[in-house]
Amino acid sequence: MRGGSVAVVGGSIAGCAFARAAARGGAERVTVLERSPGRLEDRGVGLCVVLDRYAELVRAGHLDDGIRHHPLTERHWVAADPGGAHGPRGRVLWVQPMTMNSFHWGVLWQGLRERAPDGVEFRAGTTVTAVGGGGTADGDRGNGNGSDDVGSGGGRDDRQAWVETADGREPYDLVVGADGHRSVVRAAVCPDARPEYAGYVCWRGSFDARLLDRLPGGGARWPAHEVITACYPGGQVVLYRIPGLTPGTTLVNWVFYASAPAWLRPVDDTSADPDGIPAGSLDPARLDELAELADRHLPPYWAEVVNLTPVGRILLQPIHDLATPRRTAGRLLLAGDAATLVRPHNTSGAAKALQDACAFEAAWRTADGWDDLLPGYDRERGAVGRALVDLGRRLGRAQVTGAPDWTAIDEAGMADWWREQLAGTGGFGGLSLDRPPNSTPPGAR
Ligand SMILES: Cc1cc2nc3c(=O)[nH]c(=O)nc-3n(C[C@H](O)[C@H](O)[C@H](O)COP(=O)(O)OP(=O)(O)OC[C@H]3O[C@@H](n4cnc5c(N)ncnc54)[C@H](O)[C@@H]3O)c2cc1C
Repeated sequence: MRGGSVAVVGGSIAGCAFARAAARGGAERVTVLERSPGRLEDRGVGLCVVLDRYAELVRAGHLDDGIRHHPLTERHWVAADPGGAHGPRGRVLWVQPMTMNSFHWGVLWQGLRERAPDGVEFRAGTTVTAVGGGGTADGDRGNGNGSDDVGSGGGRDDRQAWVETADGREPYDLVVGADGHRSVVRAAVCPDARPEYAGYVCWRGSFDARLLDRLPGGGARWPAHEVITACYPGGQVVLYRIPGLTPGTTLVNWVFYASAPAWLRPVDDTSADPDGIPAGSLDPARLDELAELADRHLPPYWAEVVNLTPVGRILLQPIHDLATPRRTAGRLLLAGDAATLVRPHNTSGAAKALQDACAFEAAWRTADGWDDLLPGYDRERGAVGRALVDLGRRLGRAQVTGAPDWTAIDEAGMADWWREQLAGTGGFGGLSLDRPPNSTPPGAR
């Protein structure tokens, strides 16, 4: 199939990848509408892609090996040991071989953004307020003001989609919702699907790795290839290094899962669902609570690592998930976190978004028309998304809300515990592009 116009709502990981996929597939016009003004690099948090998924995406041309990343080869599961016999890094529960590449979100985004073909138009600072063209049973009314005409100049065309911004409505052949967690496009594709709060939050932070030298034993106490998971009753902290925004620099990145503080406000008056707090907006008094949590629960070295983080580099994010019942409707299509929101324990969000783009491009290349393209993408990626959401819930229960007694578990017990979590899924880090969700996975790593 060639030609056609595509609007991509959201210009983050999924948005950049879909813009590129649509342009490479042969779309005549691709426009990315992103509500944030300017560039997005300063969303300074880390993420990882497991090596198998990474290699697959590089082979498929959806990830460039030239994008700076940091190799991680071991996951050390540790816990506090009150007697201190095991030293400041705590008691080692298990050293798990695990090969992944870590990224700075901004570096990954820059890499994807720069690789978008020249003809792709990026409109920063453009908020999409409504979309239509879903062709839903209750009328193709979009999620805006309820009127059904398409565009301002043209007559009604059921075969088109539209986006609405402050400049009015614009018609497109296809609208891709790559607009994340609280997607406007999702509200039109499946109005009843809402992210579900997992019942806990994560604090996240990052800082220049050179600051580690201020600690007793310095940065040398923590070899750069190690991911640390420091476990405590009711949560865990995952710590690893990522490349800095400036070439040649390295950051420490951590994610601290914990129950929600009582003071966290709900998203709106009608919801018990807590809202996140961006970096730079947390009251320093609240951060004392985080320091206290770290000091109380973590081995001393890891508590000190968390407490080294500058105040302005800490944010708080409630954990949610959502598996949408469908990811296409009419001429609307969902991608990345707008389509499926997976708890971060899977380490699969970015890989999943890039795989969505990969599947979309492959479907585009073989499709005879739109009616052929959308159902195939929906079937394939919908099943993958649901499998990952299930796994994320299982990992969240095993590692946070129903974690074992860390004082009573040994290395063999840890390996069994991990295998049980993955049994029947094989989806840690995301499912292989070549393997459907219900096939037998390789052994747990
Ligand atoms: C704590 C945590 C840790 C994580 N760790 C990992 C990890 O290790 N590995 C991994 O692979 N993934 C991880 N993830 C998940 C990963 O970050 C996401 O899955 C990935 O970034 C895909 O994002 P996206 O592009 O779909 O959505 P987003 O990054 O949320 O982007 C949505 C974009 O849409 C824009 N937008 C929203 N609404 C509108 C609108 N109405 N109009 C215009 N623009 C709009 C937003 O400004 C934004 O730029 C983690 C997530 C969390 C919360």
